[in-house]
Amino acid sequence: LARNPGEQEFHQAVREVLESLGPVVRRHPDYLHQAVIERICEPERQLIFRVPWVDDQGRVQINRAFRVEFNSALGPYKGGLRFHPSVYLGIVKFLGFEQVFKNALTGMPIGGGKGGSDFDPKGRSDAEVMRFCQSLMTELYRHLGEHTDVPAGDIGVGGREIGYLFGQYKRITNRYESGVLTGKGLAYGGSQVRTEATGYGTVFFTEEMLATRGTSLSGRRVVVSGSGNVAIYAAQKAAALGAHVVACSDSSGYVIDEDGLDVDLLRQVKEVDRGRVSDYAAQRPRAEFVTGGRVWDVACEVALPCATQNELDDAAARRLVEQGVVAVAEGANMPCTPDAVRVFQEAGVLFAPGKAANAGGVATSALEMQQNASRDSWGFAETEEKLRRIMVGVHERCAHAADDYGLPGNYVAGANISSFLQVAESMLALGVV
Ligand code: NDP
Repeated sequence: LARNPGEQEFHQAVREVLESLGPVVRRHPDYLHQAVIERICEPERQLIFRVPWVDDQGRVQINRAFRVEFNSALGPYKGGLRFHPSVYLGIVKFLGFEQVFKNALTGMPIGGGKGGSDFDPKGRSDAEVMRFCQSLMTELYRHLGEHTDVPAGDIGVGGREIGYLFGQYKRITNRYESGVLTGKGLAYGGSQVRTEATGYGTVFFTEEMLATRGTSLSGRRVVVSGSGNVAIYAAQKAAALGAHVVACSDSSGYVIDEDGLDVDLLRQVKEVDRGRVSDYAAQRPRAEFVTGGRVWDVACEVALPCATQNELDDAAARRLVEQGVVAVAEGANMPCTPDAVRVFQEAGVLFAPGKAANAGGVATSALEMQQNASRDSWGFAETEEKLRRIMVGVHERCAHAADDYGLPGNYVAGANISSFLQVAESMLALGVV
């Protein structure tokens, strides 16, 4: 704590992992002697830089950007960029730390990193977003490379931003290095299913959890939070598997639509018109928009928090339990507070932590890198099936580690233990580096 003052989210993420590792270090005392835990908590490299750009009125604007290259024991640093006014070092470090373990869980050869900026894309024109992205990449490019560090999107960074970033990387380096960024458009080296991957993967993981209790999503009432990339495709896949998805949200409130969310309309409003969920509600006869309301007040059997960190606290968790929730899977990173997680676990609710449940996004980024490396591109169905199998594998790894350490059904412990063991073994094998 004293080493990283004021980085609350980073402390929270580290504590959550370390709480699971007592039995692991008792079984592997060499991890203590080799200071593996201290090393794993310290990023290999952290970059902080100025991003100057000119707005549409000709005024110079300044933002701060970060890239935290956390751990490369398993492969090049891999993890998204977030553009949101709340971004500071503590958020980027929490996300980078989580990413190390998430990437290990996928079973793919990728290390962990994360980046972002306090730039707020809301209300900015395309030209402003482009100038910002170009300025950011003018510094960041020297730290990237398909074998070094491979960013992707996150909150506030979608296909438009990745396109501008890739364009500037290509221009500065004079290299068409497709594998340097993922989440690219299909026209220039992107992968099928990358857009859908995080949401779909979260739902595939949820199905695997429910199957351990002999049940499924079919016929279940589902609530998602957020209405961005992860939320939209979690809702789409849940509905395709027979669930009744009735609510979603943004930072101004939530919409409840008892007819079931019309995902095509939601996509139009969010992805094309760049509107709000209130605009969606205005176009649906029976939908209601609740300004400033908490989406967790809507009763459901399956809750998929897909917005942002610490959006679901213990009071919301208790309310969900009272109203009969049976499964919660984190599509976002750390959306449930530690107290909320305890409420779910004590009530016997199936609970999937983000580093397991939302690993499908980065896994499909790794599939994009594979396609780029072999100058190949796969079809939608083939890529979706690879994603589904990867999520089955993530679930198996978590469940197996939880069983092995006497904590059956505890996906938090299972995810932390399984991924830690893989990263720790690699770090030991690579020596003191
Ligand atoms: P988007 O920017 O596409 O969407 C974010 C959504 O969350 C928006 O609807 C936003 O609403 C909402 N939101 C943000 N803050 C709040 C808040 N305080 N209260 C309510 N709603 C809020 O981001 P993504 O969908 O890509 O990311 C969502 C989460 O998933 C993040 O935690 C991210 O780290 C995680 N994730 C994303 C992956 C990906 O592939 N994109 C991969 C793995 C994890 P508003 O527009 O009002 O801000």
